[in-house]
Amino acid sequence: MGGGLAGMVAGIALQQAGKNTAIVSMGQNALHFFSGTFESLKEPDERLAALFSAAGIRVHYREGVRLMPLGTFKKAALSLEDIDIFPNAKFARRVLIVNFLGYHDFFSSFLAEGLEKHGIECRIRFLSLPDLDNTKAHGEMRSVQIARSMDRIWEKVVQEIRLMLRDEDTVVLPQVFGLSDTTVPGRIRQSLPARVVFAGTMPPSVPGIRTQMQLRRRYQLLGGTFLMGDEAIRAHEHEGVVHSIATNNLDAHYLEADSFILATGGLFSKGLRSNPFQISEPILGLDIDHPEDRNNWYNPAFAEEQPYMGYGVKTDAQLHAVKEGIALKNVYAIGSILGNTRPELGSGAGLAINSAFAVVDTLLAEK
Ligand SMILES: Cc1cc2nc3c(=O)[nH]c(=O)nc-3n(C[C@H](O)[C@H](O)[C@H](O)COP(=O)(O)OP(=O)(O)OC[C@H]3O[C@@H](n4cnc5c(N)ncnc54)[C@H](O)[C@@H]3O)c2cc1C
Repeated sequence: MGGGLAGMVAGIALQQAGKNTAIVSMGQNALHFFSGTFESLKEPDERLAALFSAAGIRVHYREGVRLMPLGTFKKAALSLEDIDIFPNAKFARRVLIVNFLGYHDFFSSFLAEGLEKHGIECRIRFLSLPDLDNTKAHGEMRSVQIARSMDRIWEKVVQEIRLMLRDEDTVVLPQVFGLSDTTVPGRIRQSLPARVVFAGTMPPSVPGIRTQMQLRRRYQLLGGTFLMGDEAIRAHEHEGVVHSIATNNLDAHYLEADSFILATGGLFSKGLRSNPFQISEPILGLDIDHPEDRNNWYNPAFAEEQPYMGYGVKTDAQLHAVKEGIALKNVYAIGSILGNTRPELGSGAGLAINSAFAVVDTLLAEK
C-alpha cells in the first residue's frame, strides 16, 4: 500500500527476489517534491547502488551544500547526479541566471538576491523560445510542462545561452531538463563554455518525478503490478493476521496476499490523518506513537519544528505494525508513516529506503 519511495524500493527488491507483488498507489508522493538529495544516507551500499543503477537512477556522494530554489543553501550529501553539491555557498564568481519568459516556477530574482549575499555577481536573462509557445497556448508554463519540451529543444537553449554569455564563469538554469532523457543535463554541461548549475524550481520537482517514473518502470519490468490511482481503504483481519484488503477501484474484489506492507506516508500523503482530536491511521486503525497530552503535540512557536510532524505508527523490532498493543503478524510499516519512531533507520529518504530493505530482508528470511 503506497507507491512512494519506500513502497517502490520494497516492491522492486521483492520482485527481484522472485516474489509476486502488487502496489496500490493512491496519488502524488513526496518524490514529486523531492529536492534530489537523499537525507540521512551515506554512499549507497552495493544493494542500493544496484537497485538504482538497474532503474537508471544515477547518484553521486559529496558532502557540502546545495542551492535551494530561493537562493538559500542547505546541507547535502547523497544526491541525484544532476544536483550540484558545493563545498560552500560561494560556488562561483559571476553567474548568468537563465529563465524562460512566462515561466511561473522559477524565481530568478530571489535566486540572484540569495547568491549576491554570498558575494556572487548575478545577471538574469529571459529566454523566449517559439517552441514554448505551444506550452503557453495550452495552459500555464509550469516546470513539468516546460520539461516535456526541453529534452527535445535543449540544443536551441544552449545556442541562445552561448550568445548571452559574457564573462560569467557559471550558468544557472532551472531544473527542467532530463525528464525523459537523463543524458540531457550532462550534454548541456558539455556544450557550454561555462560551468552549468541546475537550480531547484518550485514544486513539482522534475528530478523527483523522473525518479518516480524510473522506479515504476523498473518495478513493472520486473513483473510487478502497479495499481495507479487506487486507494487501499480497508483491511480484513482475523486474530492478528490480515488476509486481504479492499480498494476503491476494485470494488468487491479483494486483494489477497501472504504479507502486506504499509508504505502510505505520513500526514502529507494521507497515510496518517488528523482532526482536532486525534491522529489516526485510516486503513488498519494502527496505534500511533504520540504523547497522551495533546498540548504537547505542537510547538506554540508556529514556524518552529512541530512535534506532531514526527509522530508515526507503532511497530515492533521487525517493523510489524502494532494494533491495540499487539503486533500484526503479516503487516509491516515502512517509510515516512514511521515518523521519528525509528531513528536508527534514518530520516527522510534514508528512512524510506532503510526500512524498505529491512522488511524485505525479514520477508525473504521467512519460510
Ligand atoms: C514535501 C516533501 C518533500 C520532501 N523532500 C525530501 C527530500 O528532498 N529529501 C529527502 O530525503 N526526503 C524528503 N522528504 C521526506 C520524504 O518523506 C521521504 O524522502 C520519502 O520520499 C517518503 O517516502 P514514503 O514512500 O514513505 O512516503 P510518500 O512519498 O509520502 O508516499 C506515500 C504514498 O502512499 C500513497 N497512499 C496514501 N494512502 C494510501 C492508500 N490508502 N492507498 C494507496 N496509496 C496510499 C500516497 O498517495 C503516496 O503516493 C520530503 C517530504 C515531503 C513531505
